[in-house]
Amino acid sequence: MRIAEIREVAVPLRGDIANAVVSFAGHTVSLVAVVSDVVRDGGPVAGVAFNSIGRHAQGGILRDRMIPRLLAADPDTLLGTDGVLDPAAVLAAMMQGEKPGGHGDRAAAASAVELACWDLLAKLHGEPAHVTIARAHGRETSYAGVPVYAAGGYYAPGKGVAELRAELAGYRDSGYAAVKIKIGGVSLAEDLARLEASIDELGGGHAVAVDANGRFDAVTALAYADAMEGLGLRWYEEAGDPLDYDLNRRLAEAYSGPIATGENLFSTQDVRNLLLFGGVRPDRDIFQMDAGLGYGLTEYARMIDLLARHGVDRTAAFPHGGHLVNLHIVTGLGLGGCEAYPGVFEPFGGYSPGCRLEGGLIHPAEDPGFGLEAKPGLADEIARLVA
Ligand code: MG
Repeated sequence: MRIAEIREVAVPLRGDIANAVVSFAGHTVSLVAVVSDVVRDGGPVAGVAFNSIGRHAQGGILRDRMIPRLLAADPDTLLGTDGVLDPAAVLAAMMQGEKPGGHGDRAAAASAVELACWDLLAKLHGEPAHVTIARAHGRETSYAGVPVYAAGGYYAPGKGVAELRAELAGYRDSGYAAVKIKIGGVSLAEDLARLEASIDELGGGHAVAVDANGRFDAVTALAYADAMEGLGLRWYEEAGDPLDYDLNRRLAEAYSGPIATGENLFSTQDVRNLLLFGGVRPDRDIFQMDAGLGYGLTEYARMIDLLARHGVDRTAAFPHGGHLVNLHIVTGLGLGGCEAYPGVFEPFGGYSPGCRLEGGLIHPAEDPGFGLEAKPGLADEIARLVA
């Protein structure tokens, strides 16, 4: 088989929400189609994916560097021994001539194409992507559902504690057993009031995680840790700069609850540094690297293997990014659970109607591939891209 064409379009995120650092008004995501020369039902089979959420579309890097390299590569070098596309070989071809280190926007660019290859492979097999992913990694897959939590609690104009409570009650009533809210966008006292209301609404700190999105300096991170110590929170996420491993180490020494980080680490080497220098506690901490931001599933699977070599069980992995792609990766690799963005980050966030949420577990639908075409809103974008 051959790659006939690769298409990319920047799709704007809908809505106007913010965390402590970023407003998502004006954010875009790269939607990518890898079109093969395999014809089914009168048309070419195309794999579709996107570069997760939060790092903007990467059409420039894709069009200037990665897509031309891929299309110029000897097509046979992109195939595995089974004669179909090998995502690892595709990634290697896109990375020709790139220097080591400095894993920034190019990691997100590459991931959109690499993940589209997994969608393509699953569609060629006529199966959900988690089945393809599990088989490729020597694992059993199941439809038994994976834990999922609702990531919300964003700051928005005019949104107070009452509105936050109503939002979280909505998640609870629709089947989510756990939630995450943002912190760091207002004063510590105001955040504590938001947090206490959230804990009350969900029935305990075990069901509420907090996310500072890397905003805090060490003094503030430790002040929040001190204030939250007795709340028994689910986890305390990205207190400081994602690459400040020393801050993470100091926080781990001061705060007894689980600490979550990793969504802004885009390479196995970055994760290795976190494990070596970040004071990580394998018995409780949470790891949120995201295949859609870090070169795709090929690199992500290496990160999971690395965690295991450092005594961290794969169930400590909760990838950033509440969408269908990560639902299939979590299911296929048997990870700890998924994030969900109910009603936000549309059209990419959230799941398709065929996915079932029940008792805090999300069950993937049986659509072939990642099933992105089954998601209202995203379906129209994909139809335009592959038309
Ligand atoms: Mg986060």
